[in-house]
Amino acid sequence: MERFLITGGMGFLGSHLSERLLREGKEVWALDLFEPPYARRLREHPRFHMVVDTIMNRGTLEKLVDRCDAVCHLAAIACPDQYVHQTRKTMDIGLRAGFEVIDLVRLTGKFLFFTSTSEIYGRNPDVPWHEDADRVLGSAEVDRWCYSTSKAALEHYIRACQLDEQLDYVTVRVFNAYGPRLRGRVLDKFVDDALEGRPLTVHGDGSQTRCFTYVDDLIEAFVRLIETPSAHNTVYNVGSSVETSILDLAHTISALAGRSPSFEFLKHADVMGESYEDIQRRVPDVSKIERAVGWKATTPLELGLGEMIAYRTEELGLAHA
Ligand code: UDP
Repeated sequence: MERFLITGGMGFLGSHLSERLLREGKEVWALDLFEPPYARRLREHPRFHMVVDTIMNRGTLEKLVDRCDAVCHLAAIACPDQYVHQTRKTMDIGLRAGFEVIDLVRLTGKFLFFTSTSEIYGRNPDVPWHEDADRVLGSAEVDRWCYSTSKAALEHYIRACQLDEQLDYVTVRVFNAYGPRLRGRVLDKFVDDALEGRPLTVHGDGSQTRCFTYVDDLIEAFVRLIETPSAHNTVYNVGSSVETSILDLAHTISALAGRSPSFEFLKHADVMGESYEDIQRRVPDVSKIERAVGWKATTPLELGLGEMIAYRTEELGLAHA
């Protein structure tokens, strides 16, 4: 596969995947709603094509899918504080646009790479989760679950397209990606608060955990899976196995940013509203991807956080602490 369309190609994961594919000698079309400042350097690359448009524009999608051998469908509203307040938009982009993309790929016989989410498992308490673990979600009256539900619907549809029409695909369930350019998640919020001298706002008591996965490790997994045909037509957890509590994360980021710890504890409902439920533990079983392509996350959290802090320090025009 030589020519790739990446939906959400200028977002956090999309921009890193674009850069990696260009380094591999591929041609990349990045479809996104906006062109962030970091896209300027990419724009100069002769094999990179930026397309600023909405993924809801079928005409644009048709043209782009036609040009490519492979479609990486990354576009989504993935931040909890956005999707609990913009549920309809999350479902429109997740489901309407998602079905359009998959159908175009299916009808043209191209390869599909789909980023699903660890949110799929909801609040299943039996961690670590193998890919066939149960989805344990709250009520459909609770908007937190709209993102998980839209991704799960697409996973079902993709599987069905493979069974009925031999769609060639890989689905990955991403576990808390982080790194330079991340916006809207706990990690970049803590980094900004620490760098700008504000208390870090810990939701709940901070005992909830996540397995934070550095972006370079994730992109390595994506590329290995795309390039290994024997690994296609199934779903993989892609994540670090190291579980970190939000309170420990707050301490680590404060120390790395050279600040003494200063935290403000807030109730989830006060920050996120009533239509939110938190997930206490989120841990992947990564034995499947390890067997398929020999992948394991290798970047220690402190190292990845150091990269993020250095990136953000420069972006904010701050001196190193
Ligand atoms: N969180 C926090 N402070 C913040 C933002 C998030 O304590 O400023 C918590 C949030 O309540 C959740 C965890 O950090 O328990 C991870 O949140 P994130 O928004 O990164 O996404 P999630 O992993 O829940 O999808």
